[in-house]
Amino acid sequence: MELPLYDDHLHLSPSGRGIDALREFRAAGGTGLTLVTLPYPEVRISSGEDFRRSFSITASFARQARDLGLLVHPAVGPYPVLMVGLAEQLGLERAEAVMKEGMDIAAGMVASGEADLIGEVGRPHFPCDPSIIEACDRVLQHGMDLAAELGCAVMIHSETDEGTFRSLAAMADSAGLPREKVVKHSSPALSRGEGTMGVSVSVPASRTLLREAMSKGGVFMAETDFIDDPARPGAIMAVTTVPKRIKGLHFSGEMSDEDVIRVCQDIPESLYSR
Ligand SMILES: [Zn+2]
Repeated sequence: MELPLYDDHLHLSPSGRGIDALREFRAAGGTGLTLVTLPYPEVRISSGEDFRRSFSITASFARQARDLGLLVHPAVGPYPVLMVGLAEQLGLERAEAVMKEGMDIAAGMVASGEADLIGEVGRPHFPCDPSIIEACDRVLQHGMDLAAELGCAVMIHSETDEGTFRSLAAMADSAGLPREKVVKHSSPALSRGEGTMGVSVSVPASRTLLREAMSKGGVFMAETDFIDDPARPGAIMAVTTVPKRIKGLHFSGEMSDEDVIRVCQDIPESLYSR
């Protein structure tokens, strides 16, 4: 049997290695991934419609990735850090409207089947003016409302502090979105339900963090946050990290067949398959 080996947060860039990076992932044993939109340098975002061009790049990578035999769940959404630059450029009110349009376009692509989830969306991971954070929260709440209607998941990019999971759970509740459909990307090594308020977690695939997440209950997904930027090769984990690490922990007996199937198949499928 081929073990499922799933990377829950991976980016490709038209100016990077693109689909070649996924050939390497496949060769290392990778079977599936959440392919997440990143603001591509090729598309400057200053209006809602710019998001459509950006998201269609992700959708086109997803089609090529499927041709390699990979299971791909595309995630599209207005990257939260964009709010900062847009607010400077257009004023906060207009920036929020543009981000909300991006959210509407993302939801439309989930509805039409071009994407499986909304992401990565949320709040900047660094301290910002409170008015920026409040605007980001309104955009995110709008996204969760749309996700609840669609029954899709939302991949979160945000700060990580004591209040993070509580705030995400409260937003999900207010939208009527099951908390588990909210996935905290770049999460501390936790297990869903153990300190996450029911929110799902995607944990960076270092050996230490994966071991820690296993010891806490093992209900998590693993990710690289590969950014496909040849100019910053050391800035992120190699594209092969998830298959290599999970295979290693399976070989050493630290993850059973059942553990690997839960982390790399059952959880992603329960959240993303449509
Ligand atoms: Zn990312």
